[in-house]
Amino acid sequence: MIEIDGSAGEGGGQILRTSLALSMCTGQPFALTKIRAGRAKPGLMRQHLTCVNAATEICGAEVHGAELNSQTLSFRPGQVRAGNYNFNVGTAGSCTLVLQTVWPALLMADAQSHLKLGGGTHNPMAPPFHFLERSYAPLLRRLGANAELKLRRLGFYPAGGGEIEVVIKPAINELEPFDLNDRGAEVQAHAECLAPALNRSIARRELEQLGASLGWSEDQLRVAPARQNEGPGNALMATLAYEQVTEVFTAFGEKGVSSEKVARNVAQEVSAYQASDAALGPHLADQWALPLALAVGKRQRAAAYTCTELTLHAKTNFEMVERFLPVKFLTTPIKGGWQVRVQPT
Ligand code: ATP
Repeated sequence: MIEIDGSAGEGGGQILRTSLALSMCTGQPFALTKIRAGRAKPGLMRQHLTCVNAATEICGAEVHGAELNSQTLSFRPGQVRAGNYNFNVGTAGSCTLVLQTVWPALLMADAQSHLKLGGGTHNPMAPPFHFLERSYAPLLRRLGANAELKLRRLGFYPAGGGEIEVVIKPAINELEPFDLNDRGAEVQAHAECLAPALNRSIARRELEQLGASLGWSEDQLRVAPARQNEGPGNALMATLAYEQVTEVFTAFGEKGVSSEKVARNVAQEVSAYQASDAALGPHLADQWALPLALAVGKRQRAAAYTCTELTLHAKTNFEMVERFLPVKFLTTPIKGGWQVRVQPT
Protein backbone atom coordinates (compact mmCIF):
# COMPACT_ATOMS: atom_id res chain seq x y z
CA MET A 1 0.00 0.00 0.00
CA ILE A 2 1.53 3.33 -1.08
CA GLU A 3 0.88 5.94 1.64
CA ILE A 4 0.36 9.45 0.38
CA ASP A 5 0.15 12.71 2.27
CA GLY A 6 -2.39 14.87 0.44
CA SER A 7 -1.01 18.04 2.04
CA ALA A 8 2.39 17.59 0.35
CA GLY A 9 3.61 20.27 -2.06
CA GLU A 10 0.63 22.08 -3.53
CA GLY A 11 -1.83 20.02 -1.48
CA GLY A 12 -4.55 20.10 -4.18
CA GLY A 13 -6.74 17.76 -6.21
CA GLN A 14 -3.98 16.71 -8.61
CA ILE A 15 -2.41 14.48 -5.93
CA LEU A 16 -5.65 12.48 -5.86
CA ARG A 17 -6.04 12.31 -9.65
CA THR A 18 -2.44 11.28 -10.32
CA SER A 19 -2.67 8.63 -7.59
CA LEU A 20 -5.89 7.21 -9.04
CA ALA A 21 -4.53 7.20 -12.59
CA LEU A 22 -1.25 5.50 -11.74
CA SER A 23 -2.73 3.11 -9.21
CA MET A 24 -4.93 1.78 -12.03
CA CYS A 25 -2.03 1.67 -14.50
CA THR A 26 0.31 -0.19 -12.14
CA GLY A 27 -2.11 -2.20 -9.98
CA GLN A 28 -0.62 -0.70 -6.79
CA PRO A 29 -3.11 0.23 -4.04
CA PHE A 30 -2.75 3.53 -2.18
CA ALA A 31 -3.98 5.24 1.00
CA LEU A 32 -4.35 9.00 0.82
CA THR A 33 -4.74 11.23 3.88
CA LYS A 34 -5.23 15.01 4.32
CA ILE A 35 -6.93 15.25 0.92
CA ARG A 36 -6.65 18.79 -0.51
CA ALA A 37 -5.41 20.05 2.87
CA GLY A 38 -3.81 23.01 1.05
CA ARG A 39 -7.21 24.31 -0.13
CA ALA A 40 -9.76 26.55 1.58
CA LYS A 41 -12.41 23.79 1.48
CA PRO A 42 -10.41 20.58 1.97
CA GLY A 43 -11.61 17.05 1.20
CA LEU A 44 -13.35 15.58 -1.83
CA MET A 45 -15.50 18.05 -3.77
CA ARG A 46 -17.99 16.81 -6.39
CA GLN A 47 -15.42 16.79 -9.21
CA HIS A 48 -12.90 14.80 -7.13
CA LEU A 49 -15.56 12.34 -6.00
CA THR A 50 -16.59 11.81 -9.63
CA CYS A 51 -12.93 11.02 -10.41
CA VAL A 52 -12.85 8.42 -7.61
CA ASN A 53 -16.15 6.88 -8.73
CA ALA A 54 -15.08 6.81 -12.39
CA ALA A 55 -11.80 5.12 -11.48
CA THR A 56 -13.66 2.62 -9.29
CA GLU A 57 -16.04 1.78 -12.09
CA ILE A 58 -13.40 1.15 -14.76
CA CYS A 59 -11.32 -1.18 -12.62
CA GLY A 60 -13.74 -2.57 -9.99
CA ALA A 61 -11.62 -1.12 -7.18
CA GLU A 62 -12.17 -1.70 -3.47
CA VAL A 63 -12.54 1.79 -2.01
CA HIS A 64 -13.01 3.35 1.41
CA GLY A 65 -13.72 7.03 2.04
CA ALA A 66 -15.40 7.85 -1.29
CA GLU A 67 -17.77 10.48 0.09
CA LEU A 68 -18.21 14.20 -0.34
CA ASN A 69 -15.80 16.16 1.93
CA SER A 70 -13.89 13.01 2.88
CA GLN A 71 -10.26 13.74 3.71
CA THR A 72 -9.03 10.14 3.55
CA LEU A 73 -9.29 7.55 0.82
CA SER A 74 -7.98 4.04 0.32
CA PHE A 75 -8.07 2.57 -3.18
CA ARG A 76 -7.21 -1.01 -4.16
CA PRO A 77 -7.51 -1.29 -7.97
CA GLY A 78 -8.72 -4.32 -9.90
CA GLN A 79 -8.22 -5.12 -13.59
CA VAL A 80 -8.94 -2.14 -15.86
CA ARG A 81 -11.82 -2.89 -18.25
CA ALA A 82 -12.22 -1.17 -21.60
CA GLY A 83 -15.87 -0.38 -22.39
CA ASN A 84 -18.61 2.23 -22.75
CA TYR A 85 -18.75 4.60 -19.81
CA ASN A 86 -20.83 7.57 -18.79
CA PHE A 87 -19.39 9.88 -16.12
CA ASN A 88 -21.32 12.93 -15.01
CA VAL A 89 -19.98 15.37 -12.43
CA GLY A 90 -23.56 16.50 -11.74
CA THR A 91 -22.46 20.11 -11.14
CA ALA A 92 -20.38 22.55 -13.18
CA GLY A 93 -17.23 20.84 -11.85
CA SER A 94 -14.69 20.06 -14.56
CA CYS A 95 -15.35 16.88 -16.55
CA THR A 96 -12.01 17.26 -18.36
CA LEU A 97 -10.24 16.48 -15.08
CA VAL A 98 -12.36 13.33 -14.77
CA LEU A 99 -11.29 12.39 -18.29
CA GLN A 100 -7.60 12.92 -17.46
CA THR A 101 -7.97 10.64 -14.43
CA VAL A 102 -9.18 7.62 -16.41
CA TRP A 103 -7.42 8.28 -19.73
CA PRO A 104 -4.00 6.72 -18.86
CA ALA A 105 -5.59 3.55 -17.50
CA LEU A 106 -7.90 3.13 -20.50
CA LEU A 107 -5.07 3.54 -22.99
CA MET A 108 -3.27 0.72 -21.16
CA ALA A 109 -6.37 -1.52 -21.58
CA ASP A 110 -6.65 -4.20 -24.28
CA ALA A 111 -9.56 -2.73 -26.27
CA GLN A 112 -11.13 0.56 -27.27
CA SER A 113 -13.28 2.57 -24.84
CA HIS A 114 -16.05 5.04 -25.51
CA LEU A 115 -16.69 7.71 -22.88
CA LYS A 116 -19.43 10.26 -22.37
CA LEU A 117 -18.57 12.90 -19.80
CA GLY A 118 -20.83 15.59 -18.34
CA GLY A 119 -20.14 18.72 -16.30
CA GLY A 120 -18.00 21.79 -16.94
CA THR A 121 -16.03 21.77 -20.22
CA HIS A 122 -14.41 25.19 -19.70
CA ASN A 123 -13.55 25.83 -16.05
CA PRO A 124 -11.00 28.10 -14.41
CA MET A 125 -8.24 25.99 -12.82
CA ALA A 126 -8.78 23.03 -15.15
CA PRO A 127 -7.81 22.17 -18.72
CA PRO A 128 -10.49 23.56 -21.07
CA PHE A 129 -11.79 21.11 -23.68
CA HIS A 130 -9.96 22.95 -26.50
CA PHE A 131 -6.67 22.65 -24.61
CA LEU A 132 -7.13 18.86 -24.36
CA GLU A 133 -8.12 18.63 -28.03
CA ARG A 134 -5.39 20.84 -29.50
CA SER A 135 -2.49 20.63 -27.03
CA TYR A 136 -2.67 17.49 -24.91
CA ALA A 137 -4.22 14.86 -27.22
CA PRO A 138 -1.78 15.52 -30.12
CA LEU A 139 1.18 14.97 -27.80
CA LEU A 140 -0.38 11.72 -26.57
CA ARG A 141 -0.83 10.72 -30.22
CA ARG A 142 2.88 11.25 -30.84
CA LEU A 143 3.54 9.01 -27.84
CA GLY A 144 1.50 6.30 -29.60
CA ALA A 145 -1.80 6.79 -27.73
CA ASN A 146 -4.67 7.74 -30.03
CA ALA A 147 -7.91 9.29 -28.91
CA GLU A 148 -10.75 11.15 -30.61
CA LEU A 149 -12.44 13.95 -28.71
CA LYS A 150 -15.75 15.62 -29.52
CA LEU A 151 -17.32 18.57 -27.79
CA ARG A 152 -21.10 18.00 -27.79
CA ARG A 153 -22.14 20.90 -25.59
CA LEU A 154 -20.30 23.67 -23.77
CA GLY A 155 -20.52 23.70 -19.97
CA PHE A 156 -19.58 26.72 -17.83
CA TYR A 157 -19.83 27.55 -14.15
CA PRO A 158 -22.38 27.75 -12.57
CA ALA A 159 -24.88 25.96 -14.85
CA GLY A 160 -22.61 23.13 -16.05
CA GLY A 161 -24.42 20.82 -18.46
CA GLY A 162 -21.46 20.39 -20.82
CA GLU A 163 -20.91 17.12 -22.70
CA ILE A 164 -17.81 15.54 -24.17
CA GLU A 165 -17.43 12.27 -26.03
CA VAL A 166 -14.11 10.51 -26.25
CA VAL A 167 -12.87 7.35 -27.92
CA ILE A 168 -9.66 6.01 -26.37
CA LYS A 169 -7.71 3.45 -28.40
CA PRO A 170 -5.54 0.84 -26.68
CA ALA A 171 -1.86 1.82 -26.79
CA ILE A 172 -0.13 -0.45 -24.32
CA ASN A 173 2.26 -1.82 -26.94
CA GLU A 174 2.64 1.46 -28.81
CA LEU A 175 4.01 3.87 -26.21
CA GLU A 176 7.36 5.34 -27.26
CA PRO A 177 8.93 8.20 -25.28
CA PHE A 178 10.25 11.16 -27.28
CA ASP A 179 12.14 14.38 -26.57
CA LEU A 180 10.31 17.67 -26.79
CA ASN A 181 13.00 20.29 -26.34
CA ASP A 182 12.02 22.71 -29.14
CA ARG A 183 8.64 23.99 -30.19
CA GLY A 184 9.77 24.44 -33.83
CA ALA A 185 8.70 27.25 -36.16
CA GLU A 186 5.33 28.95 -35.68
CA VAL A 187 2.65 27.56 -38.00
CA GLN A 188 -0.33 29.75 -37.09
CA ALA A 189 -1.89 31.69 -34.24
CA HIS A 190 -5.46 32.75 -33.64
CA ALA A 191 -7.82 33.79 -30.88
CA GLU A 192 -11.43 32.86 -30.37
CA CYS A 193 -14.08 33.80 -27.91
CA LEU A 194 -16.75 31.46 -26.59
CA ALA A 195 -19.62 33.51 -25.25
CA PRO A 196 -22.81 31.43 -25.43
CA ALA A 197 -26.00 33.18 -24.31
CA LEU A 198 -24.15 36.49 -24.05
CA ASN A 199 -24.28 39.55 -26.24
CA ARG A 200 -21.93 39.19 -29.24
CA SER A 201 -20.43 42.59 -28.48
CA ILE A 202 -18.73 41.11 -25.40
CA ALA A 203 -16.86 38.59 -27.52
CA ARG A 204 -15.95 41.24 -30.12
CA ARG A 205 -14.59 43.60 -27.46
CA GLU A 206 -12.44 40.94 -25.81
CA LEU A 207 -11.06 39.79 -29.15
CA GLU A 208 -10.30 43.33 -30.35
CA GLN A 209 -8.45 44.08 -27.14
CA LEU A 210 -6.49 40.85 -27.28
CA GLY A 211 -5.70 41.45 -30.97
CA ALA A 212 -4.48 44.96 -30.19
CA SER A 213 -2.20 43.75 -27.34
CA LEU A 214 -0.66 40.98 -29.41
CA GLY A 215 -0.57 42.83 -32.74
CA TRP A 216 -2.84 40.20 -34.35
CA SER A 217 -4.85 40.95 -37.49
CA GLU A 218 -8.64 40.79 -37.86
CA ASP A 219 -8.52 37.40 -39.63
CA GLN A 220 -6.82 35.91 -36.55
CA LEU A 221 -9.80 36.86 -34.34
CA ARG A 222 -12.89 34.65 -34.32
CA VAL A 223 -16.18 34.67 -32.49
CA ALA A 224 -17.22 31.04 -32.04
CA PRO A 225 -20.78 30.39 -33.31
CA ALA A 226 -23.26 29.88 -30.48
CA ARG A 227 -25.31 26.69 -30.33
CA GLN A 228 -28.74 26.40 -28.79
CA ASN A 229 -29.24 25.84 -25.07
CA GLU A 230 -25.66 26.55 -24.10
CA GLY A 231 -24.26 28.89 -21.50
CA PRO A 232 -24.14 31.48 -20.24
CA GLY A 233 -20.37 31.55 -20.18
CA ASN A 234 -17.34 33.33 -21.50
CA ALA A 235 -13.90 31.95 -22.35
CA LEU A 236 -11.30 33.84 -24.37
CA MET A 237 -8.69 31.52 -25.89
CA ALA A 238 -5.47 32.05 -27.82
CA THR A 239 -4.15 29.09 -29.81
CA LEU A 240 -0.51 29.10 -30.91
CA ALA A 241 0.46 26.24 -33.21
CA TYR A 242 4.13 25.40 -33.75
CA GLU A 243 5.68 22.53 -35.68
CA GLN A 244 6.18 20.42 -32.54
CA VAL A 245 3.50 21.60 -30.16
CA THR A 246 0.30 23.63 -29.94
CA GLU A 247 -0.46 25.74 -26.88
CA VAL A 248 -3.88 27.09 -25.85
CA PHE A 249 -4.10 29.91 -23.30
CA THR A 250 -7.48 30.70 -21.77
CA ALA A 251 -9.04 33.32 -19.49
CA PHE A 252 -12.60 33.49 -18.25
CA GLY A 253 -14.97 36.42 -18.21
CA GLU A 254 -17.47 36.90 -15.43
CA LYS A 255 -19.79 39.60 -14.12
CA GLY A 256 -17.76 42.50 -12.77
CA VAL A 257 -14.60 41.61 -14.72
CA SER A 258 -13.96 43.99 -17.63
CA SER A 259 -13.26 42.75 -21.15
CA GLU A 260 -9.90 44.59 -20.91
CA LYS A 261 -8.95 42.47 -17.92
CA VAL A 262 -9.96 39.19 -19.60
CA ALA A 263 -7.97 40.12 -22.73
CA ARG A 264 -4.99 41.24 -20.61
CA ASN A 265 -4.93 37.90 -18.77
CA VAL A 266 -4.67 35.94 -22.03
CA ALA A 267 -2.19 38.41 -23.55
CA GLN A 268 0.11 38.08 -20.52
CA GLU A 269 0.17 34.28 -20.78
CA VAL A 270 0.81 34.42 -24.53
CA SER A 271 3.60 37.00 -24.13
CA ALA A 272 5.27 34.99 -21.36
CA TYR A 273 5.26 31.93 -23.64
CA GLN A 274 6.51 33.89 -26.66
CA ALA A 275 9.34 35.38 -24.59
CA SER A 276 10.84 31.90 -24.17
CA ASP A 277 11.98 29.24 -26.64
CA ALA A 278 10.94 26.37 -24.35
CA ALA A 279 8.47 23.87 -25.81
CA LEU A 280 5.73 23.69 -23.18
CA GLY A 281 3.83 26.33 -21.23
CA PRO A 282 3.19 25.96 -17.48
CA HIS A 283 0.05 23.76 -17.73
CA LEU A 284 1.30 21.33 -20.35
CA ALA A 285 4.51 21.09 -18.31
CA ASP A 286 2.66 19.56 -15.37
CA GLN A 287 0.23 17.46 -17.44
CA TRP A 288 2.84 15.99 -19.78
CA ALA A 289 4.76 14.44 -16.83
CA LEU A 290 2.44 11.47 -16.31
CA PRO A 291 2.00 10.13 -19.86
CA LEU A 292 5.67 10.66 -20.69
CA ALA A 293 6.71 8.86 -17.50
CA LEU A 294 4.43 5.93 -18.41
CA ALA A 295 6.24 5.60 -21.75
CA VAL A 296 9.69 6.03 -20.16
CA GLY A 297 8.90 3.40 -17.53
CA LYS A 298 7.57 0.99 -20.14
CA ARG A 299 10.49 1.31 -22.59
CA GLN A 300 13.14 1.95 -19.92
CA ARG A 301 14.41 4.82 -22.06
CA ALA A 302 14.87 8.42 -20.86
CA ALA A 303 13.18 11.42 -22.49
CA ALA A 304 13.19 15.17 -21.84
CA TYR A 305 11.16 18.29 -22.44
CA THR A 306 11.63 21.99 -21.92
CA CYS A 307 9.09 24.31 -20.32
CA THR A 308 8.76 28.01 -19.64
CA GLU A 309 7.98 27.58 -15.97
CA LEU A 310 8.08 24.92 -13.27
CA THR A 311 5.10 25.50 -11.02
CA LEU A 312 4.64 24.03 -7.56
CA HIS A 313 1.83 22.09 -9.19
CA ALA A 314 4.28 20.48 -11.64
CA LYS A 315 6.84 19.66 -8.94
CA THR A 316 4.15 18.10 -6.77
CA ASN A 317 3.01 16.03 -9.73
CA PHE A 318 6.56 14.82 -10.45
CA GLU A 319 6.82 13.60 -6.84
CA MET A 320 3.52 11.74 -7.14
CA VAL A 321 4.53 10.07 -10.40
CA GLU A 322 7.81 8.95 -8.81
CA ARG A 323 5.83 7.23 -6.02
CA PHE A 324 4.15 4.90 -8.55
CA LEU A 325 6.46 4.51 -11.54
CA PRO A 326 10.13 3.43 -11.82
CA VAL A 327 11.24 6.89 -13.00
CA LYS A 328 13.10 9.92 -11.67
CA PHE A 329 12.53 13.55 -12.70
CA LEU A 330 15.62 15.74 -13.04
CA THR A 331 15.14 19.47 -13.58
CA THR A 332 17.78 21.87 -14.89
CA PRO A 333 17.38 25.63 -15.38
CA ILE A 334 17.88 26.74 -19.00
CA LYS A 335 17.58 30.11 -20.70
CA GLY A 336 13.89 31.06 -20.62
CA GLY A 337 12.77 28.17 -18.41
CA TRP A 338 13.61 24.62 -17.44
CA GLN A 339 14.51 21.29 -18.89
CA VAL A 340 12.78 18.28 -17.34
CA ARG A 341 14.42 14.91 -17.88
CA VAL A 342 12.50 11.73 -17.04
CA GLN A 343 14.82 8.79 -16.43
CA PRO A 344 14.13 5.13 -15.73
CA THR A 345 15.43 4.02 -12.31
P1 ATP B 1 -7.92 21.84 -6.13
O1 ATP B 1 -6.48 22.03 -6.28
O2 ATP B 1 -8.70 22.98 -5.60
O3 ATP B 1 -8.21 20.57 -5.51
P2 ATP B 1 -8.46 20.88 -8.69
O4 ATP B 1 -8.74 19.53 -8.24
O5 ATP B 1 -9.44 21.52 -9.62
O6 ATP B 1 -8.38 21.90 -7.58
P3 ATP B 1 -5.61 21.33 -9.33
O7 ATP B 1 -4.89 20.44 -8.39
O8 ATP B 1 -5.49 22.81 -9.12
O9 ATP B 1 -7.09 20.91 -9.42
O10 ATP B 1 -5.21 20.98 -10.86
C1 ATP B 1 -5.74 21.63 -11.95
C2 ATP B 1 -5.17 21.10 -13.28
O11 ATP B 1 -5.74 21.89 -14.32
C3 ATP B 1 -3.67 21.21 -13.46
O12 ATP B 1 -3.16 20.11 -14.16
C4 ATP B 1 -3.49 22.48 -14.30
O13 ATP B 1 -2.33 22.47 -15.14
C5 ATP B 1 -4.73 22.42 -15.15
N1 ATP B 1 -5.11 23.76 -15.63
C6 ATP B 1 -5.53 24.82 -14.88
N2 ATP B 1 -5.78 25.89 -15.68
C7 ATP B 1 -5.52 25.51 -16.94
C8 ATP B 1 -5.58 26.16 -18.22
N3 ATP B 1 -5.97 27.43 -18.33
N4 ATP B 1 -5.21 25.46 -19.32
C9 ATP B 1 -4.82 24.18 -19.22
N5 ATP B 1 -4.75 23.50 -18.06
C10 ATP B 1 -5.09 24.14 -16.93
